[in-house]
Amino acid sequence: MGHPELAAKFTQDVERTHWHDKALWFVREKRDRASKSIPEWEALRRKAQQIKTHTMENLDTYLEAFEKNAKAKGIQVHWAKNAEEHNRITLQILNLHNAKKVVKSKSMLTEECHLNPYLEEQGIEVVDTDLGERIIQFRKEPPSHIVLPAIHLKKEDVSKTFQEHIGTEAGNNDPTYLTRAARAHLREKFLGADVGITGVNYAIADTGGIVVCTNEGNADLGATIPKVHIASMGIEKIIPRLQDLAVFTRLLARSATGQPITSYTSHFHGPIEGGEMHVIIVDNGRSPILGSEHYSQALNCIRCGACMNTCPVYRRSGGFSYEATIPGPIGSTLEPCKDLAKHKTLPYACSLCASCSNVCPIRIDLHHQLYFHRQDVVKAGLLDKKKERALGFAGWLFQHPKVLDFCGKMARKVVPHLPRWMMYSSMNAWGEHREMMDFPEKSFKELYVERQKRKQS
Ligand code: SF4
Repeated sequence: MGHPELAAKFTQDVERTHWHDKALWFVREKRDRASKSIPEWEALRRKAQQIKTHTMENLDTYLEAFEKNAKAKGIQVHWAKNAEEHNRITLQILNLHNAKKVVKSKSMLTEECHLNPYLEEQGIEVVDTDLGERIIQFRKEPPSHIVLPAIHLKKEDVSKTFQEHIGTEAGNNDPTYLTRAARAHLREKFLGADVGITGVNYAIADTGGIVVCTNEGNADLGATIPKVHIASMGIEKIIPRLQDLAVFTRLLARSATGQPITSYTSHFHGPIEGGEMHVIIVDNGRSPILGSEHYSQALNCIRCGACMNTCPVYRRSGGFSYEATIPGPIGSTLEPCKDLAKHKTLPYACSLCASCSNVCPIRIDLHHQLYFHRQDVVKAGLLDKKKERALGFAGWLFQHPKVLDFCGKMARKVVPHLPRWMMYSSMNAWGEHREMMDFPEKSFKELYVERQKRKQS
C-alpha cells in the first residue's frame, strides 16, 4: 500500500486524527517559543548547516580521524556496509560474551537495520529502555515518530498495554503511576543485562568520543551497568571538533521538544573499568545519497523531528502511513533515495508549503528535495496512472487559457447548485473530510480586468 491508502486508514478515526494533529502542533509551538529565546537562532542554524556541509564534503577524513582517536581510547571500531553486516557484527560481540540479555536505548539506526527481530531470532532478549519505545515494543509496533515513538497512542492505550505486560492496575491511566511502574520494570532489566546498546547522536572526530542525548538517562544506565557497550552510528553522525557540539546541542533539544537542553547529554570516551566499548559505523545506503546531485543535504539531518511536528500531512496522516523507518518530510526524501519504486508515493505526501524547511535546524531544503523526487518518479515511469492522466490534462488545460476560463466559469455556475449526494461522493476525495469551499462569482482574472478598467475610467 502507498501513503494515500495508509493515510486513509489512519484518518478513519477522526477523533484520533484531530488529537494527533493537536499533540504535534503543541510541540511545534513549544519549538517556536524555545527558538525565539535565542536571538542568534538563525546564525546558529547557518553555522550548523555550514559545519555539516563541510563535514560531509570531507567525510572520509573525519571518519578515519574518528577511528584513530577512538581506538586510542580503547574503543573497538567496526565498519558495516549494510544492515546485515551491522547485525552480524553485533551478534558476534554478543556471542563473544555469551550475552543473552540486552538493554537498548533509542536508536533509529538499529530500527533501520531491524536489529531486534534479528537478535530475538537468535534467542537473545532485547529490551528497549526508552519509555515510548518500550510501550511500542510491548505492542509489537514500530515507532511512529523519531523522537516521540508512541505519539500515536493515548494514555488509555498505554494503561491497557502495561496492564497486559507488566501487571499494572486495570483502568489506572495516571501518567505518574504508569511511568513509575515502567521505571521499576526497566530497573530490573538494566540490572540483569549482559550488554547495553545505544545509538549515537554525535561522534566527534578529534576526540574519538561519542555523545548520546536522552531525556530519561536510559542510555547512561545501559552503557554503564553492563560491562559491554555497543554504540551503532550511521556514517553521517560525525562532527569535526568538540567545540562544534554546542552548536548542535543548542539546536537539537529546542527543535525536538522545545526544551533548552536534553536532560542527559552524555559523553562516552572509552570502556568502563574492566569492560568493553564497541562502535559500529554503518553505511547502509548512505554513500549513494552523499554522492547524489540533489539529496546529499538530507544526510545533514540531526533527527530532531521538527519537520514532522510541523508537517500538515504528517500530523494528519500519522507516522505509520509512511511505511518507513523515518517518516515525515525527512523520511519522504531519504527513503525514496534508497528505493524509489517502493516509496514512490512519499514525495507526494507533501503540500510543498515549505514549513519543514523553515523549521529545520540545519536548513535542509526539504521541500525542494521532495519536488526533485517527484520529477524522478515521473522520469522513472512510476507515477500512478490516474495521477499521470490528471496531471496531463491539467498541463494541457493551463496551456489553453481560453478553455481554462470557460471551465472555471462553468464550474462556478454549476457546482454550487449540485445536490450534496453528487458533490460528496467517492468521486470527490476533497469532500471526504471537509466541506467544499464557496465558489466565487467571478474569477481572479475577471476581477483584475474590472479593476483595471475602473482605474482607467
Ligand atoms: S530534516 Fe531537519 S527538521 Fe527534520 S528531523 Fe532532520 S534536522 Fe530535524
